[in-house]
Amino acid sequence: MDNNIEEKLEQRGIKPTAMRILVYDVLHRQKKAVSLVEIENQMKHVDRSTVFRTLKTFQDHLLIHSVDDGSGAVKYALCDDDCTCTIDDQHIHFLCTVCGQTYCLKDLPIPHLDLPEGFTFESANFVVKGICAECKR
Ligand SMILES: [Zn+2]
Ligand SMILES: [Zn+2]
Repeated sequence: MDNNIEEKLEQRGIKPTAMRILVYDVLHRQKKAVSLVEIENQMKHVDRSTVFRTLKTFQDHLLIHSVDDGSGAVKYALCDDDCTCTIDDQHIHFLCTVCGQTYCLKDLPIPHLDLPEGFTFESANFVVKGICAECKR
């Protein structure tokens, strides 16, 4: 296991407990955003509510972000080291309608929105649907 997981957690002000290190390790190995159930399935003998609480802690400390891709399950992915989860750091997500996987398109920031006067921006959930490169082959 990667030694620098502890460092990554500490950088975000999270105390590196054994459970947190395990959950981070699972997230770290994903190429896509994953749901609570998918994370749980990749770990042995864990309690779902413990994993959920860990994800909540990670999210509160901006270590991960969540995506509601409309599939019914919220998915989670690690943030970049310098991510502050503000509008400028958020990116478009891509849901493949064939494999059901959700990708972080980190190079595609969400478009700037000119909201009508009097409206205040809080967050955006930008999901594009289509067929991913792997399924297209
Ligand atoms: Zn696909
Ligand atoms: Zn993402």
